Amino acid sequence: MRIFVAGIATETNSFSPIFIGVDDFKASLYAKPNQHPDTPTLCTAALVDLRKRAKSENFTLIEGTTCWADPGGLIAKDCFEQLRDEILLQVTQAHKTAPLDGVILCLHGAMMAQGYDDPEGNLLQNIREIVGDDVIIGASLDPHSHLTDLRFEQADILCAFKEFPHTDFVKTGEKVVDLVIRTIRGEIKPQMAMFDCKMIDVFPSSRQPMRQFVDDMLATEAQEEEILSLSLIHGFMAGDSPWLGTKMIAICDGNRDKAQEFAQQFGQKIINIRGQSMPQILQTDPAVKQAFVKATTSQKPVVITDVWDNPGGGVAGDGTLILQALLEQKPQNKVMRIAVGTIWDPMAVKHCFTAGEGAVIPLRFGAKSAPNTGDPMDKIVLVKKLHKAATQSFGSYQVPMGASVVIEFESIEVILNSTRAQAFEPDLFNVMGIDPSQCDILAIKSTNHFYAGFEKIAEHIIYCEAGNPYPNDPKTTVYQKAPKNLWPIIDNPWHATQNKPNN
Ligand SMILES: [Zn+2]
Repeated sequence: MRIFVAGIATETNSFSPIFIGVDDFKASLYAKPNQHPDTPTLCTAALVDLRKRAKSENFTLIEGTTCWADPGGLIAKDCFEQLRDEILLQVTQAHKTAPLDGVILCLHGAMMAQGYDDPEGNLLQNIREIVGDDVIIGASLDPHSHLTDLRFEQADILCAFKEFPHTDFVKTGEKVVDLVIRTIRGEIKPQMAMFDCKMIDVFPSSRQPMRQFVDDMLATEAQEEEILSLSLIHGFMAGDSPWLGTKMIAICDGNRDKAQEFAQQFGQKIINIRGQSMPQILQTDPAVKQAFVKATTSQKPVVITDVWDNPGGGVAGDGTLILQALLEQKPQNKVMRIAVGTIWDPMAVKHCFTAGEGAVIPLRFGAKSAPNTGDPMDKIVLVKKLHKAATQSFGSYQVPMGASVVIEFESIEVILNSTRAQAFEPDLFNVMGIDPSQCDILAIKSTNHFYAGFEKIAEHIIYCEAGNPYPNDPKTTVYQKAPKNLWPIIDNPWHATQNKPNN
């Protein structure tokens, strides 16, 4: 048995001003064949699992290039074509040496490039042309992606993370690997079906009603022998894709009708819980006010998360509105330990590195990339700590933050970083010498990935909508390519179709 593995992964916010080129992949992950680290990244858990299984089950694994760029705007055309052609050449050579039995791609699924609305579909189609119809092609996906017709047709097996935060990324990689291997061995015959929910929403699984939906998917996979995999593609509302929207995938052993039935059944459940999954989100001033009130009586930190200035959604993550409000509302008569992590500003980081640890310097930082994210701050700051290559953890994945610094001014500590990264785990503070458990208020940037890590140390979590960095309201977002017949853009896209809402 011969299996090839490779991948190009990122999440494209087509409204973001941050263009993505090869250097951005190199800053996050760009692993030539056999150079991928031993630990998985968010989208490459399948590769790490394949290495283990190839060794223990004695099959041949051929590694191609795997790469990941932190979410941003459109991928430059040259960048996508270079990475794609690198992988196509590797597949061609591998298949020529001796025929491949399987191909596994480590994808994200929300990539858009200049001139390519469906880059992953294009990659899959090209690979299919090289290896032919008999080779099993599987891919792992992030649910914040676009399920296009092309990739659905070209792949045999597509599995997405079920959890948001994506704490099950390793399990999902293992699942794709297992299904591909069992198919090659003739143990199963996967039949994949899709159901279009005709809607777009945000679905944290850390709270109801989505928690129950994910538990139902897991229970069905465990109990129904024929069901090989269930995945919900949440969709990604910041990607102006012709295939934008929430879609349900079911894979069944040898029975396409049953797969269709389950895709529809679970898709219908999602339609019925639309609009109910996000927590209450406060505007900046009331959110910060609430944080100070809660902090006076809390034993543990109060966390304010900047929900939409989240680099994980492709924006810069350099907004200063919450920091500005913290400075304005900070009590004069009481010492509070406040830490902000992180604000992206590579130029300010460079100035701090040049000045050195312990220097007190004038510094302009933050809010340089996009409108509606506050103003750059001009402060006299103490350069408290420098780190040449800081990382935070997300499960077994080490997420790079790049060269980072802690600056302190007016009794607030702020981490500035140079590789954009949302907040995943409180250790982003520890790595920079700040003990988050000793802080009264922690201000972070993340929509929901922070939750699993921060809820362990926080007494209160406050969701804050600061400024307008991200197209988070599909009703007002000006889409050019996305379908218009989606809820909530229209009230009832299910009219005169089979999938009517139940309420
Ligand atoms: Zn995601």
